This record gives sequence, structure tokens and C-alpha cells, in this order.
Amino acid sequence: MELLRTPVEMRGWADARRREGRRIGFAPTMGCLHAGHLSLYGILRDRGCDEVTASIFVNPTQFGPGEDFEKYPRDEASDLSLLREAGVGAVYLPGVADMYPEGSQTVVDVTGVSKGLCGDRRPGHFQGVATVVAKLFNAVRPHVAVFGEKDFQQLAVIRRMARDLDFGIEIVGAPIFREDDGLAMSSRNRYLDGADRIAALCLSRGLFRAAGLFGAGERDPLALAAAVRSEVEGEPRATFEYAEARNPETLFPVTPPTGRVTLLVAARVGPARLIDNITLQEGGQQ
Ligand code: AMP
Repeated sequence: MELLRTPVEMRGWADARRREGRRIGFAPTMGCLHAGHLSLYGILRDRGCDEVTASIFVNPTQFGPGEDFEKYPRDEASDLSLLREAGVGAVYLPGVADMYPEGSQTVVDVTGVSKGLCGDRRPGHFQGVATVVAKLFNAVRPHVAVFGEKDFQQLAVIRRMARDLDFGIEIVGAPIFREDDGLAMSSRNRYLDGADRIAALCLSRGLFRAAGLFGAGERDPLALAAAVRSEVEGEPRATFEYAEARNPETLFPVTPPTGRVTLLVAARVGPARLIDNITLQEGGQQ
């Protein structure tokens, strides 16, 4: 497995592979890897990529003031061994100064789909995400890039950016990996101690409860979102942020009756800010 630490090194590696006609697949991460991350590399293989590449970069520009940039969990040695086992051929590990050299002043702002949901609670977050992903794309030059549906709004932002800026990269969404009890896997789950870890289940429990209602015929998006909300608000250790029903493609609010809807939820539990979502459609869950 090759480690590339600067944009020039990474780009050199990618250009050489492209000249050999190799199809490059890419899934960026902030490290502290779990099975959800590792599933992304299997998807790239299944999609016929000859080169499966990863990046590990905790991107300062997507964290707001007072957020967890400094204490975000980092474990490079363990991440690299997991990526090696997952068959990843190259890992891009840029430093902050390589990504944002002094004098850097260009950003990518995806205006519409970055608004609402997490965009309203984390001002500047999606601008930081879009900017860093554009830079990663320019260094890794993938043909295909995969992003988890766990970060549903982020996936929509990246799809929009790739289309609007003519990156010519196929963007693929990957299903959410969950712990056996339903909690969506996340690097931030490491912040949860015993009681908070149990309390954190209120997000997935709310989504599954809404899925049950949908299965029983409920088609009012407000009623579905309210079911998620009441589950989170019923958990004393959780601070509710939002529960909303959106169109899975546009992320616009949906009007009833709806045959296909994504429910998105965010809440704070102890020191962790958690998000989760589920897409429901007639004829079964997606
Ligand atoms: P992160 O390291 O949190 O920036 O995540 C890197 C990539 O892994 C993103 O595309 C995430 O959406 C994806 N990811 C994170 N958690 C999960 C999960 N539980 N299931 C599937 N993909 C995930």
C-alpha cells in the first residue's frame, strides 16, 4: 500500500495510473475507521475499479468554532492496517499546510442543497466539505468516488458539486452500516460512554418507529417526522436538533402523500453530535 503525503505526490501517482488505463476508485475519510468506512472500498471493487484509494484528513475548515476539531479521534497506525486489510492500494495523507498553503483564498460553495438541516446548525460546514472534496478530487483524480448515505446531506452536496463543476466523476452512495443494536456507525460514537451509548439509540429507534408507521400506511411526512422527534425528545440525555422529511433526490421538503421519503434526524447525546437517516418507499425500505 502506497502512502502519498502531498498533492504533487498524489497527483503524480494518479496520473501514472491513468496513463496505464487504470480505473481509479476513491473514498475519502477523516480516519478513525470502522466497518462503515471499510464497506466503501468493497463497493469500489464491485464497481470495477482497478485502483482503490483512500484519504485520511481531518479537515479543519469543516469544523466550526467550538466544535471538536482538536479532539476528533485520530489513529493513523490502526487506520492504515485496516485499509491494507481492505485491499486499498494507495492512501492520501496530506497535512493541513499542504492542503491550505498560506494565502489560500478559494472556496467551493454549493448554495442550495447546503441550506437547512445540518447546514443551518453548522454554518460553513458544507463549504468546508465541498472545498476539501474538490481539492481531494483534483489530487486523486478518481473515475468513481463513493460516499456514505449516513451523511445524506453531504452526499447531496457532493453530487451537486461534481455535476456543477464538471468533475466527470461518478458519485456513488453507500448504505448506512449500523451496530447490531441499530446505532449508525460513526467515529464520534467513541465519545459515548455507557449511559450515553444507550441513549444514542433514540435516533435509530425513532427512524425505525417511523418506518413501522410507513409500513402500516402512514404517508403524511409531518407525522413521520413527528414520530422520530418524539422518540428523541423522550430521551432525557438527548438534545433534539431536527427531524425532517425530505425528498431523497432534491432534499426539498416533501408534500403529502408521499411514496418515497427520507427522514433525517440530528441530536446531541452527551459530548457527541449524532446524525442518522432512513429512506422509505412503497414496496419496502430502500
Ligand atoms: P468520515 O470519516 O466521517 O468523514 O466519513 C467518511 C466516509 O464514510 C463518508 O462518505 C461517510 O458518509 C462514510 N461513512 C461514515 N459512517 C458510515 C456508516 N455508518 N455507514 C456507511 N458509510 C459511512
